[in-house]
This record gives sequence, structure tokens and C-alpha cells, in this order.
Amino acid sequence: MSNFNTIDNIEVNGKVVMLRADLNVPMDENFKVTNTARIDRTVPSIKELMDKGAKVVVASHFGRPEEKGDPKCTLSHIVKDLEAAISGGVKVTFVEDCIGEKVEAAIANMGRNEVILLENLRYYKEEKKGDLEFAKKLVANCDIYVSDAFSTAHRAHASMVAAASLKPNAAGRLMQTEVEALTDGLSAPVRPVAAVVGGAKVSTKLELLTNLVKKVDVLVISGGMAHTFLKAQGVDTVNEDNSLVQMDMLDTAKEIMTTAKSAGCEIILPADVVVSKEFKANAESKSVDLDSIPASGWELLDVGQKSIDAISSKLESCKTLIWNGPLGVFELVPFDKATNAVAQKAAELTEAGKLKTVAGGGDTVSAMVNAGVDKRFSYISTAGGAFLEWMEGKELPGVKALEK
Ligand code: AMP
Repeated sequence: MSNFNTIDNIEVNGKVVMLRADLNVPMDENFKVTNTARIDRTVPSIKELMDKGAKVVVASHFGRPEEKGDPKCTLSHIVKDLEAAISGGVKVTFVEDCIGEKVEAAIANMGRNEVILLENLRYYKEEKKGDLEFAKKLVANCDIYVSDAFSTAHRAHASMVAAASLKPNAAGRLMQTEVEALTDGLSAPVRPVAAVVGGAKVSTKLELLTNLVKKVDVLVISGGMAHTFLKAQGVDTVNEDNSLVQMDMLDTAKEIMTTAKSAGCEIILPADVVVSKEFKANAESKSVDLDSIPASGWELLDVGQKSIDAISSKLESCKTLIWNGPLGVFELVPFDKATNAVAQKAAELTEAGKLKTVAGGGDTVSAMVNAGVDKRFSYISTAGGAFLEWMEGKELPGVKALEK
């Protein structure tokens, strides 16, 4: 557990609190927010701080601005959604800058039922550089710094690290919940603990796998990346570009399996696979055993029922599950079957109080939504890169900055 202040142990009444949030939400071409999850999940901190008498000033990055004022990346696009999420007649006042006189004036004139939203932090290149002078300007009009931006915590940016060092600081409720869930999932889990790692390529998850085999009792490797592990074990997974076998990773896969053995970590690889004529929804497909994978003309897009059964039965004897990456091409029916079946099994065990389930990282959240389990797991993280880096065993600068 990280040793940081929370909203419980800082006095905010009558104070100006800067809340560093991650409001980097997805938008369509008309600048309409398509998923408000990140807004919704930081609202409890905003409301609680306001209820406790604080004046709340929200700061966030948004997109990848090419220059200051890039109209695609102004946070003014989300004002209405933030206001709707906070509700209760609270007005969100948008300030067209994140430092300087406009900010100072807006804070000085702030009313009780008002929240200030600052313009995109990344309009200043100093933000990404972690610049201390920029951070000083950012917190100049605030008394307290609170961070809810767990999903940005792998970045040592000015608003994440330097700003925290300049004022009394605390973790907001979302930051606190994310860190607690990941601590329960991986840093201090109830054992036995299983990890499910899927997704496309071994190369992108190398550090993750190397760390996990030393920490978990069971490691399920699935998705496209499992093909490289199967190949390393002598299974004739087709060596074509579309089978995702990474020939230059065979030795690495063997090393990971050797490390797992000496660490007492059981690795579960697919016992069968679903092959398809095309990379397309509802394409002609069949489930085959590992010794019957067709030599050509088929792609491996999911794992089969034997694999589903093996993973599901292993989960029954585990107490904690941490999950990153789908078991197959979950975006295309029916190749979402294994991901859905195992996710539903994990959700049932969670609801029965037998398993603590933590999932996160990029596509995993979409996969869990697709499986209908996003509200049934113990915890679904809002973080992509930060979740992965935590699972890789790395220290997150934005969390460390809050440590007492
Ligand atoms: P990642 O971002 O590494 O977690 O990868 C997620 C992606 O892996 C998803 O878009 C899946 O469609 C893809 N994926 C999972 N299994 C396979 C597979 N057997 N073949 C191709 N892509 C896969």
C-alpha cells in the first residue's frame, strides 16, 4: 500500500484545491465525448472536496496538441459533460489557460457552487518536460494539490510530479482506489494468484510476462502472443505473418518458461485453437487440437473449448485474478467466445465471493465491456499504460510523488 495522504486526512475547508485529473476522454469527429468513464470516475473526488468546503480547480491534459491552442485539443469540448456528471446545479467555468492572470482572476472570483476547469496542460511543452518553473505557475493560486490521474501516473510530467512537491498533497478517491486495487491484485494479493495475459504480440508484453512469472502462482498466456510460446514448445503453429508467431522471440519465450519453472509459477498455454478462413466476423472457422492446426489457409483467432475449460477450472482454485489482454480477437464474433466465457466465469466466482478480479490496460476494458462483466469484476482500472507499468513492476512517478 502506498503511503500517501487521502482526502480523509487533509483539511480542505476554505482552501483552493488543484485536482489533477485525467480527462483525456475519447471523442468523435464532432468533438462529442464517446465514453465518459474518466470524467465519471473523478467526479466523486470533485464532489467530496466541494462538500468539505474546498474550491476545486481541475487540471488535465487532453490529446496530443501539435501547438498551443490546437483546436482539436481544447478541454472546452468536455465542459458540458463534466457539468452533467457533477450535476446538482454546479457550474463548470472554463479558463482558456492553465497558468497566468486569467487563472488567477477566475479563482479570485470563484463562487461556492462552481468548479474551474483549466485549459489543456499539454499546450505548454514544459508539462511533458516535468518543468519545475511551469509547475510553480500551475499551483501558484492553489493551497493544496490532489491527484486523481492514476492513468497518467507513469509519466513524470510537471503537473504529476513537480506540482505535487510544491504544496501539501493527497491522493483523490480514484487514485486511491486504483492503487488499492492494484496492490490487492499484484503487490500484496491473497494467494493463489493467477494472471491472464492475452493480446497480440509477445514483444509488447515482454517485461510484463517477465515480472509476472516471479510474482504469480499461475500465468495463463493466450491470444496471438501464445502462438510464439506454443511454437517454442515445438507445436506447429503456422509460421506465417498472420499467425503472429514471432520467430525472433522463441528464445525469449523459452527463457520466460524456464524462469517460471524455477519461481514455481505454473504456465497455462492454449490446449486447442480456433482457426478461421479469414480475419473477419463470422468467417468459416473450426476448433482444432494443437496437433491438427492446418498448415496453410487458416488463421488462429481464438482458443477453443478445452482451453476455456482448463482456464476456468484453474480459476476455481485461485483467490486473486489479474487480467490484461483478450484471449482471442474479441472484436470479431465468434472469436470473442473464449474471452467472454473466461470473463464470465471470473465474474461468477467474484460474485460468489471466491475470487478477487482486477482487469485493466487498453483493450482489456473494451473486452470486459463486450463480455458484459465490467460491472461484475472487483475492479476495472481506468488506466492503460500505467496499469501495464505497474504489472511490469515499475515504480510510477505520479504515485511516488504523493508518498509521505
Ligand atoms: P493488446 O493491445 O496487446 O492487449 O492486444 C489486443 C489485441 O490483440 C486485440 O485487438 C485482439 O484482437 C488481438 N488479438 C488477440 N488474440 C489474437 C489472435 N489470436 N490473432 C490476432 N489478434 C489477436
